Order: sequence, then C-alpha cells, then structure tokens
Amino acid sequence: MLDVAAITANGLCAGCGMCAGLSDPARPAIVMQNSPEGYRRPVVVGDVGAEQARLIDGACPGANIRHDPASHEAEYHPVWGPLITARLGWSADAELRRNASSGGGLSAMLVQLLNTGQIDYVVQTAVSDASPLRNALAISTGRDDVYRAAGSRYAPSSPLEDIAARLDAPGQFAFVGKPCDVAGLRQLARHDPRVDAKVPFMLAFMCAGVPSYRGTSALLTAMGVEDESAVTAFRFRGDGWPGFATAELADGRRFTMDYDTSWGTILNRHLQFRCKICPDGIGEFADIVCADGWHLDEAGRPLFDEQDGRSLVLTRTRKGEALVAEAVAAGTLLTAPVEVAAIARMQPFQANRKGLVISRLAAMALTGKRRPRFAGLALGHNARRLGAKENLRSLLGTLRRLVTAKGQY
Ligand SMILES: Cc1cc2nc3c(=O)[nH]c(=O)nc-3n(C[C@H](O)[C@H](O)[C@H](O)COP(=O)(O)OP(=O)(O)OC[C@H]3O[C@@H](n4cnc5c(N)ncnc54)[C@H](O)[C@@H]3O)c2cc1C
Repeated sequence: MLDVAAITANGLCAGCGMCAGLSDPARPAIVMQNSPEGYRRPVVVGDVGAEQARLIDGACPGANIRHDPASHEAEYHPVWGPLITARLGWSADAELRRNASSGGGLSAMLVQLLNTGQIDYVVQTAVSDASPLRNALAISTGRDDVYRAAGSRYAPSSPLEDIAARLDAPGQFAFVGKPCDVAGLRQLARHDPRVDAKVPFMLAFMCAGVPSYRGTSALLTAMGVEDESAVTAFRFRGDGWPGFATAELADGRRFTMDYDTSWGTILNRHLQFRCKICPDGIGEFADIVCADGWHLDEAGRPLFDEQDGRSLVLTRTRKGEALVAEAVAAGTLLTAPVEVAAIARMQPFQANRKGLVISRLAAMALTGKRRPRFAGLALGHNARRLGAKENLRSLLGTLRRLVTAKGQY
C-alpha cells in the first residue's frame, strides 16, 4: 500500500492535489502546500480514513499510471498511446490563438463545449489573483475566462485539490490538466462513478515535466529582474508562438527571454523527480491532447522561430474525436493534416521518453526506493527501441541523481 508519506518520501508525488481533494472539505485530513523546494506537496493534518487511503493507493497518479486496456476505444500506438486521429489545429479566434500556448487547440475545444452547452464550466489552471508568479485553480464559464487561462505556465499546479467537492457540486465540467492530473482523474473514475457522470471531457497537453517555483525565480533572475515582488504581470510564453517569457514591473520596465533559452536552459533544470520517471508525458488518458506542432528545419528538427500558432491535436476517444469534428464543422477549430510519423520529429523528447522509464525504475530499486505501478504503456517495447547504451546511461544518471538528492524531491 502506498500512502501519502510513502509517496512523498520516495519522490513519487507529482503535486496534482488529488489526495487532498479527496478529504472532507469541512475537516480536511490532507492539505496542499508549497514545499521549501518550490513544488506543490500534500501535508497530512488529520486522520486519513480507510476509504480515502484506499482511493489514494488506487488512483494517485504519482503511485499509479495504469491503463485498463479494455477501455481503449482506439488502437494503441506503442509510442503515442491510444490514437484515433492526429491533426494540426488552431483556434479560429485570432486573439485566442495568439494568447494561447501553441495554436489554442485546447482553448478552442473548451469554447466549443461552453458555447454549445455540453458542459457548465471548465476546471483549469490560470495565473493566481494573489500573485502574477503563482498558479491557481480556475473555473471558466465563458470564452473570456478561457482566454485568461490560456497559455502554458511552467510551474506547479494542483488542479485536483478540490475534486471531491467539485464532484458533489451541481453541473458538469470539462477538466484540463497535465497528463498526470488527467490520469489521476481517469483512475479515480474506476473507484467513483461520479467522475464519469460529472466530467464528460478530459483534456491534456503534452508535458515534459513541471519546474518548481525556484525555476520561476531562476528565470526571472536570468531575465534581469532583481526584485520579484515588483513584478506586476508575467507570462512564460504566448502572445505569439512560441512567444517570449515576459515580466512587467511596477515601474513600467519590461524584461523578456526567448522560449528556447527560458525552457531549454533554465526551467528544464528545475523539474521534480517524479517527472524524470514519467511514463505518460503525452496525455494517454485524455479524450484529446494538444502539443506544439512545431515547424521543422531542413534537418527535420523543431524550429522555434516566431510563427502563427499551431497545435498538434490528437484524439484518443470516440467522444474526443466527435468533439474535434464538431469544432471543425462549426468553424471554431481550423485544421491541417499531419502524418503520425511526423509527430516524433515535432516532439523528439516525448518520442524517446517512455524508453527511459524502466532503467530509471531500476535505479530506484537499486537505491531501495518504493516504485510506482505502471501498466499497459508499452514501456518494454520503448526501452528495447532505445538500445542498451541509452538504457545504461539513463540508469547511471538516475542513480547519481538519487544518491545526491538527499530526500529533496
Ligand atoms: C509544465 C508544462 C510542460 C509542457 N511540456 C510540453 C511538451 O513536452 N511538449 C509540447 O509540445 N508542449 C508542452 N507544453 C506546452 C503545452 O503542451 C502547450 O500548451 C500545448 O501545445 C497546448 O497548447 P494550446 O495552445 O492548445 O493550449 P492553450 O489553449 O493555451 O491551453 C493551455 C491549457 O493548459 C492549462 N495549463 C497551463 N499551464 C498549466 C499548468 N501548469 N498545469 C495545469 N494546466 C495548465 C491552461 O489552463 C489551459 O487550459 C508544456 C506546458 C506545460 C505547462
């Protein structure tokens, strides 16, 4: 049995907040807090009952990423997961497309769902009202709310931290989250019938890992911001594709940094350990997942030059495919075809990622760590595809990381 203490002590927590969200809101046994390392982490403050413990053990996405193969409605691609159709897509709303992370594919789907009354609201993540540098759970009921929440925030989020209260409340909602957030909710649905009744759509974005708030601070320092408290507005990217990390200060000064430098040299050095062993960066449990549909240079590598935004839109369930088709017919989403073989060139990191998981779990076993339960993800197939040298390199790298981590995950 994996409880919250074992999950956090072994570096398995992804910070989604589900364990806390399963608490009785009147007397929460678990609350989410920002850890000294700058991640979202659960803290046990009361008695965790047997039922809550059972749900955490079975559904926590830090401890479990397990497919139920019988539930797949699409053929299972060993690298890209359950896949009905791959498209390139972007929001027909030009302002939304520009404000969004890539092409506003996710936001366009949310607007379609809200405009047609298929849901009452969206549960997503937006900038906190309390600080331009922090994330907060956001409830969206119309296009302007979705616009405000659009864009990637490369920092911790806990979109499941009030999930039981949400499932008790009236109305149906679409849920947007990182792949682990969506996997958690999908796994909770196996134990709690309210999830399928209340959450008709789950959307995800491909995720290379969650940087800590220390990463946000390091980014601001590298951008030239001396005093974080003077920041009045901040975005990690967007306002173009990929757009620039941009901080605005109270005295009117503006600091920027390009995406390749901000993500590729700063933020990606601050990822939590759980993301290093992630077997699902591609949102396999979502109805629809979006990613950057990068243009490629002559050598077939992603180009980060400024362009009009373009999302890669993968449908994984029949209702996800029906929603995309409906949004295209309604003119909410504009699309272009893409070959499945091209996805690996647009997303080279995700194409190799599953292959690294078994060697990294082996490093955890060698250092006496409790390991998560992963099933139905074709991890063996992907590890063999990477070859012995890459597996060895990954094993040794993870061993070094675990030995020096000193319990700080
Ligand atoms: C931590 C992180 C890692 C990423 N890794 C990859 C990657 O490996 N490959 C890739 O192609 N793209 C990655 N992205 C970018 C993301 O995949 C793009 O946002 C995707 O193309 C969707 O673009 P869009 O224009 O359709 O989304 P938008 O229409 O802009 O919608 C983005 C949605 O994401 C939600 N959101 C933003 N930040 C967070 C957060 N921290 N936690 C939970 N929800 C959030 C918003 O609420 C919004 O609903 C990452 C983003 C994040 C935040």
